[in-house]
Order: sequence, then C-alpha cells, then structure tokens
Amino acid sequence: MRWPLHVRILLGAGLGAAAGVAAHTLLPPGLVNILVDSIADPVGQVFLRLLFLLVLPLIFAALTLGVAGLQDLGQLGRMGLKTLAYTVVASLIAVTLGLLLANLLGPGRGISDELRARIVAHAQDPSGVIAAAKSAPTLKDFLIQIVPTNPLEAAAKGDYLGWMFFSLLFGVGLCLTRTEGARRFEAALQGLYDVCMRLIGVVISLAPIGVFALLFTLTARLGYEILEQLLRYVGVVLLALGIHQFVVYSLAVRLLGGMSPRAFFRGITEAMVTAFSTSSSNATLPTTLKVAEEKLKLPAEVSRFVLTIGATANQNGTALFAGVTVLFLAQFYGVELSLQQQVTIGAICVVSGIGTAGIPSGSLPVVAMLLGLVHVPVEGIGLVLGVDRFLDMCRTTLNVTGDLSAAVVVARGEKGLGRAGS
Ligand code: ASP
Repeated sequence: MRWPLHVRILLGAGLGAAAGVAAHTLLPPGLVNILVDSIADPVGQVFLRLLFLLVLPLIFAALTLGVAGLQDLGQLGRMGLKTLAYTVVASLIAVTLGLLLANLLGPGRGISDELRARIVAHAQDPSGVIAAAKSAPTLKDFLIQIVPTNPLEAAAKGDYLGWMFFSLLFGVGLCLTRTEGARRFEAALQGLYDVCMRLIGVVISLAPIGVFALLFTLTARLGYEILEQLLRYVGVVLLALGIHQFVVYSLAVRLLGGMSPRAFFRGITEAMVTAFSTSSSNATLPTTLKVAEEKLKLPAEVSRFVLTIGATANQNGTALFAGVTVLFLAQFYGVELSLQQQVTIGAICVVSGIGTAGIPSGSLPVVAMLLGLVHVPVEGIGLVLGVDRFLDMCRTTLNVTGDLSAAVVVARGEKGLGRAGS
C-alpha cells in the first residue's frame, strides 16, 4: 500500500522533528553537529534550492499565461482589484486580531526580573537585521523600483516584485497582440509551464526526505530554553495565527468562496507542510500552484494570477506577526503605546505584508523599522531572534493558506474560464 503524498510529507515532518529532538537530548553535541552539518543540513538545503530553482521560470510562465488567458483586460482589472481588496481586508483582520490579543494577554508585561535577565542574556546579535532595516528603500523609492529597468537583473537579484511586474506586463502585451507569432509564443510558454510543473512533481516527490532533513536540522540544533522563556509571546503569536488560519479562512472560504473548509484544508495540506518546513512563500509557490490546480480544481487563469502575486504580496501572517512583536517588545521595555500609535503600527503592518519578500525571515527588517518608529529599542529584535525561525515556519504557513483562500474567493465570480490544466 502506498500512502498519499501529503501523508508521507507530514510523516517526514513529524519523524524529522522527533528524531532531531531525540538527537538533541540523547547524543553527544559533537555527534549531533556531524549529523546535522554533513547530512541533514545539506540534504535540506538541496531540497530548498531545488524548489527555489523553479520559482523564477514558473512566475514568468504562470503570470504571463494567467493574464494572457483572460477574456479581456477589464477582467484583469477586476481580478486585480478583488485580490487587492481581499489582501487588505484579510491583513487588517489579522493585524487587529494580533494587536487585540497582545493588548489583552500582555505577553511582555509583568515579567519577573530574573526572567527578564535570562531573556536579555539569550539575546542574539541584531546588527544584520538593523542594517537591513536602515538600507530599506523609502515608500516612494519602493514604488518606483517595482518597475525594473532590467528584468534580468531583477530576476538575478531575487527581486520578485520587479520580475512579477515584468511578467504581468508581458502577459498584457500577449493579450493585446493578435498575431500568429504571439499565439505560438503563448503555446511555447504553456510548454514551459507544463515542464516546470512536471519537474515540481519530481521535486515534491522528494519532499518527505527534504522535509525530514529540514526539521531534523532545526530541532537537533534548537535550544529549547529560549522557547520556554518567551513562552507567553510565542503563545500569543500562535494563538492569533491559529484563529486566523482556522476560523477566519474557514469563514472566508465558506462564505465568500462557496467551498467547504474541510475540502479546502484537506486539499492544501501539501502546500501547508511545504510552507511550514521551508519558511518561504516563494519556495512554496510551485506546490501552491500544484494543489490549486490538482486538488482545489480552481480555474487555471485565476489561480496562476492570484497565487503568483500572493506569494510575495499577500502575507497576512507576516502582518500579524509584525504587530504582535512590536507590541510585545514595547511592553517588555515599558514603552506605553497610545491607540493612535497602535493604529499606525497596524496600518504599516498591512502595507508591510504586501511589500515583504516571501523568503525566510523576510519580515524582520520591517519589525526593526517599526520599533524605531515608536521609540522602542531596536536592539530588542535580538530578544526574539532565537524563536524567529519557529514563528517564521508558522506565519509562512498562514501566508500560503491566505494565498490559496484568496484564489478560492477570487475564483468564485470568474466563471466561464478554462479549468485547471487547460
Ligand atoms: N517567511 C515569510 C514568507 O515567506 C515572510 C516573513 O518573514 O514573514 O512568507
């Protein structure tokens, strides 16, 4: 008997995490280092790189075909607006939920002197994050830079927004050009897409091993002490993420998308586990596209458009995490934030969910920038770095679920298009 792939991936994740914990507690540190450095880490990294490898050609093929396959540009505008509206509303709900819970439960308040000293003692060096926050472009520059002067340079630098803009524009061009040559190019692009998806299938079939290695590396190396100390903060983030993941998205999928939440979550398990183990929405994009077409059977044009854009621009988990973290650190340092300041933080978090790269720890520079804005010591980011990897896994899962829920919702009104695989 052969188990379904998502079950094997889940099993890989569970066994990897358990084996890592066992190695961490039972084996001498020297041996654990050898196991991690020479086996688990390289295997996990190769799996991650194989996923990333396919992202750029896939964004180009998927987005261009998604736009070119639309009936007219009016439909592009409508779908774009619906995606944007869903992103903003879902992010607003996520941030409000996070801020409410952080105010209510006060994870950074009333910490004993002894615990405070231990948390500070475990702080990591935040200089890399602070430097990244300082070199971040202003909003004006950011908006200008979405339009790349050289698309290949954007691709080479991993500037996903620039590469997406180019692909989108190319799709519009393809939609407008009614020549024989353009149609042949479109057919060739479909070929590129098909080949990428076939390759994804091969890479994903290795996921149980890749995911095992990634989780083993994480848990074998992890110092659990830091998790214990920041238990209340971690708990508030997880509670808010959990409510958004299972309550808000269930309601959205059911009421706005007309799909049963059970069918939705069952269909997307592969994407959720991949997001959890890679901490990257972009690395998960190939899997996200695959489950949308094969499991949820969404119209191809809609899922290609919404999911490629969403992997970078729809990050509800990131927005939620940034809000809770800023509030936690403000409470930790005894900085009182007024309602107006919190509303500002919330608004910036919503925007940052759109602008943050879908890569591991992509949101940390935004948190550093926000801390500076409300006069909380920026070094505070070092206090949470130790638990960031774990929280990143969880918020990325939410980000990817959010993209898929957006695709379900946007797809509802777009009847009459080609179905998946067309
Ligand atoms: N890792 C997240 C993602 O790829 C971004 C973040 O750091 O919040 O979705």
